[in-house]
Amino acid sequence: MSAEPAARVVARFEVTGIVQGVGFRPFVHRLAHELGLDGWVGNDSTRVFIEVSGTAAALDELDRRLVADAPPLARVQHVARMPATDPGVVEPGFRIVESETVAGERTLVPPDTAVCSDCLGELFDPADRRFGHPFITCTNCGPRFTIIRDLPYDRPATTMAGFPMCAACMAEYADPLDRRYHAQPIACHHCGPTLVFRPGNADRPSERADAMARAVEALRAGLTVAVKGLGGYHLACDATSSEAVTRLRDRKHRPDKPFAVLVRDLAAVRELAVVGDAEAAELLSPARPVVLLRARPDSPLSPLVAPANPLVGVMLPHTPIQHLLVADGMPPLVMTSGNLGGEPIAYRDDDAAARLAGLCDAMLTHDRPIHVPCDDSVVRLVGDVLLPVRRARGFAPVPIPWAGASRSVLAVGGELKNTFCIASYDHAWVSQHIGDMENLATLDAFDASVAQFRSLYAVEPDVIAVDAHPAYVTTRWARERFDATRIVEVQHHHAHVAAVMAEHGLDPHAPVLGFAFDGTGYGTDGAIWGGEVLVADASAAERAWHLADVPLPGGDAAIRNPYRVALAHLASAGVDWGADLPPVQQLERVERGLIERQLATGFNCVPTTSMGRLFDAVASLLGLRHRISFEAQAAIDLELAAERSAGRDTGVRFRTADGVIEAAPVVHALVGGQRAGVAVGDLAFAFHVAVAELVHDLAVAECGARGLDRVVLSGGVFQNALLTSLCLRRLRQAGIDVLTHRLVPPNDGGLALGQAFVAAHRNEASEPTPTDPIPTDPIPTERRA
Ligand code: ZN
Ligand code: ZN
Ligand code: FE
Repeated sequence: MSAEPAARVVARFEVTGIVQGVGFRPFVHRLAHELGLDGWVGNDSTRVFIEVSGTAAALDELDRRLVADAPPLARVQHVARMPATDPGVVEPGFRIVESETVAGERTLVPPDTAVCSDCLGELFDPADRRFGHPFITCTNCGPRFTIIRDLPYDRPATTMAGFPMCAACMAEYADPLDRRYHAQPIACHHCGPTLVFRPGNADRPSERADAMARAVEALRAGLTVAVKGLGGYHLACDATSSEAVTRLRDRKHRPDKPFAVLVRDLAAVRELAVVGDAEAAELLSPARPVVLLRARPDSPLSPLVAPANPLVGVMLPHTPIQHLLVADGMPPLVMTSGNLGGEPIAYRDDDAAARLAGLCDAMLTHDRPIHVPCDDSVVRLVGDVLLPVRRARGFAPVPIPWAGASRSVLAVGGELKNTFCIASYDHAWVSQHIGDMENLATLDAFDASVAQFRSLYAVEPDVIAVDAHPAYVTTRWARERFDATRIVEVQHHHAHVAAVMAEHGLDPHAPVLGFAFDGTGYGTDGAIWGGEVLVADASAAERAWHLADVPLPGGDAAIRNPYRVALAHLASAGVDWGADLPPVQQLERVERGLIERQLATGFNCVPTTSMGRLFDAVASLLGLRHRISFEAQAAIDLELAAERSAGRDTGVRFRTADGVIEAAPVVHALVGGQRAGVAVGDLAFAFHVAVAELVHDLAVAECGARGLDRVVLSGGVFQNALLTSLCLRRLRQAGIDVLTHRLVPPNDGGLALGQAFVAAHRNEASEPTPTDPIPTDPIPTERRA
């Protein structure tokens, strides 16, 4: 029996996702050669299409590898296989056809990505023509999101427009077999941007020739250098020098909040901190986020990098400039956002020169403009599960799959740690972290970024989702710009719960039990909420349980002074302010009288049901922290104290009745424990267990009574890795399906996604025809990547 030559079949494949500007066509070209396929590959602004002939097995293999082996920067969402349309596809050979631009169609923008290993090899190869080139990049790496002004993604639409390619670069750009084929930001020593060292001392000229060497020298001398990065300026200094770090803290007006640290490689990270496998994978991922790690006791870092904090935020270099800075035995460097405390990151050169002049001794800068600001991302791991703390560089603007709502939405987010979200039929684009909106400069950054997203994705929102808080800057921003009929108010904690639903692609109409524990959010009764258990779907939420009201004496003053919150909780629990209690010891006589009167009369007191404030109160009650200089500082201390304990459940529990959760028994037990001499760490742990037991008990009861089968956890309190893991373990043991955030932060950085989900689905039935046509694909077989 002799083998017949296998019959050749024809097919068309269409690939959607982030497939433009990422080397997808050359990748298909290589695959086709390998699999013996004839035909061609082309693209337009929304998809790559491939028409091929080959054996059935080869076509199946192509289908599989389009997803499995896609280029590093590609994010494949669909591969659709359909009948071929081109009869010429059977002719021998395989070719790449020119791009087509389809009017009105928008492609997806890749995030900024760390230098790839090929470029890194060239950067440090004296024989390579890009040896030491601070802007080395290729199809698989480098700046994208922060340099793209408009689509289609071509060099003139980027901030590289002012740098015409030299002949050598152009030859690489035009060669389909080259790694730099159609890579828009490529350049070299001859044609690229120029690095400049600018000494703080203005009568000395800027240096071009030895800019990098001068910066290295300044850092080694203990000076602070502002370094222009992908999405803004960093402030860098020697992280092993307490003198250098103190000077930076003083200048930045940032007394305690931890600084991130940049080191050369994983081995150098291991000298500073304990690194698990999942953490190593995040450190090395193309997004190169700051990863929060447990500091080693013998770490060479100055203790002032993260004062009284066993966690340290570390990142590996993601730009060629950073690689060059830390290359030769440079000590770990502080790498913190270039800004004054509370302001947004400086990213325009003139603005940076003005705003950073007083914060640094010198600048290492260049002439490639940054189109939009983008801070470093921050992540933490709970077990092996990623917990995003700040979503920015490397993650934005990768869209989150969107459950096909007919309406397009602009959701403007909240007030602190703000992001916004634009959602249209199958994508939700959550912006990079913008910052705290009470600052005017942050509002400018917000405006610039909203404008960029709206122009990139050409979405005219049908509805604008806002927080229900009338005084939020974002809410007012939306009301000034959009007709009231298009504005949808979304309650803060409903948005938190909906954000988890959205990122997990849950059915918008199937209710879940949502635990939304955070610091502050505007309630439907006008009070400040934050310890909420909601039964919610996308369109509505019912408040099933909440923490009992406690008055915050002095409102915002109480937030900055946890001892005041502790005093309020003591008073509410009916515990006398004994002189042995740590928060009471913070009081001077005058203040004691004042706060007693405030609590008795309710004057200038803001009632709150906040779980975040309860964590603050317990931190003070246990003597851990009475005043804070950054959000969640006291709660972090409490978590870390608990982690150091041997971990015993002392049986401390909340009281629950009629929809109200009383913290009083917990407060009593903690005071009793302290007076009995129980270790602070054990009491901190017992408190975490009490909250986890509360979540478990309410989940079991409510899911049983209401026939729900899914629980979601959201709100800034769940940034607490210990609490989250205690809750997850209990809920899973009880057989409850529980979901947490993996794509957006549980804090208010995730709010916009939830607002968008609610606004997209509320009152769906009464909706007129959608403005965005829903694309109809001729898809006989389809799969999702
Ligand atoms: Zn590269
Ligand atoms: Zn060149
Ligand atoms: Fe919140």
